Order: sequence, then C-alpha cells, then structure tokens
Amino acid sequence: MRMNINDVYYEIEIVRKNNKNTYIRVKDNKIIVTTNYFVSQNRINKMIQENKQIIYKMVLSNSKRKERQDKFYYLGNVYDIIKVNTLKIIDIDYQNNRIYTNTDIFLDKWLKSQIKIIFEERLKAKYSQFEEKIPYPSLRIRKMKTRWGVCSKKKIVTLNSDLIKYSLDEIDYVIVHELSHFIYFNHSKDFWNLVSKYCPKYKEYRKNLKN
Ligand SMILES: [Zn+2]
Repeated sequence: MRMNINDVYYEIEIVRKNNKNTYIRVKDNKIIVTTNYFVSQNRINKMIQENKQIIYKMVLSNSKRKERQDKFYYLGNVYDIIKVNTLKIIDIDYQNNRIYTNTDIFLDKWLKSQIKIIFEERLKAKYSQFEEKIPYPSLRIRKMKTRWGVCSKKKIVTLNSDLIKYSLDEIDYVIVHELSHFIYFNHSKDFWNLVSKYCPKYKEYRKNLKN
C-alpha cells in the first residue's frame, strides 16, 4: 500500500499487535501504522486519509532530522561541508554557509575544542550574572540522548555536546537552567521564576530545543 503526499509516494506498512489503539508514525520515509487484529483495512485507509495533514508534517520533520546528520550544525546555523585536500585549518564562509576542512576527523577535532571553549566561556558569563549565592560548578561535556543538561548536588554541571548545534541563546538557557537548580532542585514555579530572571525568553528556547 502506498500514499501520495504532494506527488511523492510513501510506502505504508501495517503492523498488527495486541494493541488497544492505532498509532501512525513515520520512519525512514515509510508510514507505519500499528494497530490490533480487529481493525479493517478500510478503517485504516480512512484513518490515513483523515490524518493526511499530520502525516505530512511527520514526513517533513522526519526528513529534516535526517538532514541534520548530513550537514554541519554550528551555533544555530547550517553549513555545507566542503573538503579541500590542501587545507590545514578550518575555514568558515559565513556568507555562503560553507565550512571548509580537509577531513571529517579534522573537523570533528576542531568542533570538540570549540565546544569546550564556548561552553566554558558561556558558563563563566552566566555564572557572573547570578546574584544568588551559588558555587562555581565544574563543567563536564558529553553526548546525551535525552537531556541537554544535568546538574548534580556535587556541583557538577554536565552539558550535552550536541548543544553546539544551537544558538548561544539556547546554550545560555540550558546553563541558566542548570545553575538555577543549585537554588531549587526541582521544576517548581520558583525555579522557573529564577530561570526567567536571567533568561526572560526561556520558553522560546525550550521549544526550539525540543525540535
Ligand atoms: Zn531541570
């Protein structure tokens, strides 16, 4: 079975399980309908037609996520990676959104050093704004699957290295969020008030980080 969205055909796969409900999701440009053994093919077709708009949105965000892996995301901008054999440095062409490197390994090393420099600098800047008495945390950086930042009672702030793909505003928000946890170790109203004191547009950044 296939479905036509904006002149592109998408494969539809139906998975039947002991499910109560029917779910539609998109994976690798395929529409997957998970349902139980009692829902008829007609009913599924109808459901797909009724949810065409939502499915189209899912297809779009799915392909966007893919793109994110192929391109170079750095501080809220997207760059095409251009390989140049002779180049011994990383060169960024901000006007044409291109980043020049000789190898992926070289680019990776450079990015790692940038992450360290930028995160440390932003932590310092945000910490210095805090009027509340909080300890200066030690910073750890690592890749995390589900969180942008973690703060421990041992005064350690851990930041997700993938944050480098986002703008400084978003990086700053995560830092303010974690620093605020030194005062409130929860997500209470008081906590969010403190976050908004140093990051008034935090709701917007939070939303961006969820995409
Ligand atoms: Zn939190």
